[in-house]
Amino acid sequence: MNDLRSANLNGKTVALRCDLNVPTDSLGNVADDTRLLAALPTLEYIAAAGAKVLLFAHFKRPKGSTDPTMSLQRLGPVLSAHLGRRVEFATDCIGAPVIDALSRIHVGEVVLAENVRFHPGELENDPTFAQALAAPADVYVNDAFGAAHRSHASVVGLANLLPAYPGFLLRSEVETLTSRLEDPKRPLVAVIGGAKISTKLGVVCALLDKVDTLLVGGGMANTFLASQGHNMQQSLVEAQMVTQACDIMNLAKSKGVHIALPTDGVMGSDTSEDPLIETHQVTRIPVAWAMFDIGPITADHFSTYLAEAGTVVWNGPMGMAERPAFAKGTIKIAQAVSTSSGYSIVGGGDSVAALKKTGLLDSIDHVSTGGGASLELLEGKLLPGIAALT
Ligand code: ADP
Ligand code: MG
Repeated sequence: MNDLRSANLNGKTVALRCDLNVPTDSLGNVADDTRLLAALPTLEYIAAAGAKVLLFAHFKRPKGSTDPTMSLQRLGPVLSAHLGRRVEFATDCIGAPVIDALSRIHVGEVVLAENVRFHPGELENDPTFAQALAAPADVYVNDAFGAAHRSHASVVGLANLLPAYPGFLLRSEVETLTSRLEDPKRPLVAVIGGAKISTKLGVVCALLDKVDTLLVGGGMANTFLASQGHNMQQSLVEAQMVTQACDIMNLAKSKGVHIALPTDGVMGSDTSEDPLIETHQVTRIPVAWAMFDIGPITADHFSTYLAEAGTVVWNGPMGMAERPAFAKGTIKIAQAVSTSSGYSIVGGGDSVAALKKTGLLDSIDHVSTGGGASLELLEGKLLPGIAALT
């Protein structure tokens, strides 16, 4: 990868791809500005280097056509306030609106272009669309780590049309997530949770070649427990993954990797808003109840591994952490990860949200801004957006 600091940006128009896909509340206001703040250093660097910035981003998942509820327009003033620089909005990401907006700004200022996913050519990496994005720009910088696993026009296509550089955020994500796991300080302990094995199978298998201990919680643990013969009653279990879960347990054994599963859990009598709640051993789930969190014994057990770890990787909550009754396991793990003397890496939207709620985010060494992208990188995959920069 080129070094952005070696690029001459003075007087240039720089197409900068950022990940501004922030969560919003019911009124459409920014609910969590982590990604926005993470985009600022590169944006500021390019503006301060004497360039006009043409900022490209996507927002939510429009189906290749304009959807006013998914407009990037309202992020303009927020960005401008953070940067202390003028941000002009362009009502489209290609053509006359971009040219007009660029003509209205000076160097050191920003044009925020409308959602690139309003065009079907973005997802298809259509060459004509990529050309149209590239047309007003002299240089391309990709800082959208959260989109680096996508072969889209503004991620891959632009990199092939213009001199291309990684932004500071993308570079630091890639360097941290690869170098820290290439030759990790041991023991390397991974905590994996979240709803389903099926979405994280790749990363779980890849981690077996790297970790010393794998701690499994969340809904995913239910399927592992089922594969070991436990009756999980009404707990979320992926029936079609039970055999795979069993294979993973056996593979781990043959590789000398210790997989720790929950031994107790917080159970609910049903899936309603207000179920009866009791803590039981996983061998004694009441009939028709479901497990929604790891129990206190499991949380303490997992925490002892985390305390002694040289490196910790955490992805996915230990239970339905969005509900206070089932958040205790995740909170305990968040505390254990944040107080571990090892180097800590956390990725995944729901895990980061849980850390934020507990105010522990600042004690984590590396909080990844990419969910899918960080998982694919941990799997050892070459991400298209990064391959295009090298
Ligand atoms: P991340 O965003 O951190 O990668 P995921 O999206 O994989 O995490 O998983 C988060 C989801 O998993 C949450 O919606 C949570 O409710 C769900 N979940 C976790 N544990 C359980 C469980 N025991 N039963 C049902 N759902 C669960
Ligand atoms: Mg999630």
